[in-house]
Amino acid sequence: MLYFRAGSIWVAWVRDKYLSAGSFWSLNSRNYSISWTFRRLLKLRHITLSFLSISVREGGETYFWFDPWTPYGILIDYLGPSGPMDLGIPLNSLVSSITQGSAWILRPARSKRQLNLHVYLTSFSPSPGSDAAIWKVEDIICTKFSTKDVWKSIRMAKPSVSWARFIWNQAIIPKYRITSWLFTLNRNPTMDRMMSWGLDLENCCLLCGSAPESRDHLFFVCPYSSLVWKAVIGVLGFTNPPLQWDSVFEWFVSASFNRIQLAAVLQLWHGSIYVIWQERNARYHNGLTKSHWMLSQDVIKQAKDKSSAMRNCGSDLGFSLVAFWSTF
Ligand SMILES: [Zn+2]
Repeated sequence: MLYFRAGSIWVAWVRDKYLSAGSFWSLNSRNYSISWTFRRLLKLRHITLSFLSISVREGGETYFWFDPWTPYGILIDYLGPSGPMDLGIPLNSLVSSITQGSAWILRPARSKRQLNLHVYLTSFSPSPGSDAAIWKVEDIICTKFSTKDVWKSIRMAKPSVSWARFIWNQAIIPKYRITSWLFTLNRNPTMDRMMSWGLDLENCCLLCGSAPESRDHLFFVCPYSSLVWKAVIGVLGFTNPPLQWDSVFEWFVSASFNRIQLAAVLQLWHGSIYVIWQERNARYHNGLTKSHWMLSQDVIKQAKDKSSAMRNCGSDLGFSLVAFWSTF
């Protein structure tokens, strides 16, 4: 925005308050007279250097040492702190201070890096006109800023995981998705994991009391949990659902559900995981218990309520799910 949105009030304010005496690149991110938000932006400056460059014409708006106007990035970093003394160019100089007509005026090079700068300056001459900022993403010049394009360019891309579409389905209540996602990564504090962190516990499932607690036991090998899952998924007519964690995912893949069926099945699966984990936590912290039947009714009701809420927001999937649920 600082380089491309000259009409913005925020840009005018920043230019007046912080940039009236020096370059954006020379501001100290530990200067506490600068607002916290702007200091956070200053700490991200190094990332923008891979996108931003300045095309110099007269050089009257470009800081010699701080703006990225050569292929070597910021010259104070490239030539080092002795650069201003070596070249006789003060720290806050503009590029125009080393031009005379269409020629560059620069002291003879004394190092390989200074020589590189000389060689680069022979590739073009100063010319009448304003300097211009160039924003490139993936080597393509952009005429407007896109947060999405920049994020795609700087993020560490990893191959998408096979289970992603079963977790991040829009028909699922967000807090359910987060719980299921953490269980898919096996990051929730089940007793086996807490013991692996060195906690002194007696590992016994609080739901059935007959086996050690782990993710794979809770969903849905545990006799109590399996009653919840069977009652819930049985509503859709599935009388013998898989009970092993991995087998459930394999079932999602192999069952060839259509989009509506898959959304409904996922609503029930996520819901079951959430209410079972809630029940386990209630027993762990408060000693309160609910029957498996109460949990399964909760899951089914939440699936229908979520579908209605989606329909009320105009979602196509919501309309389809409400119609689907009305047949059960
Ligand atoms: Zn159990």
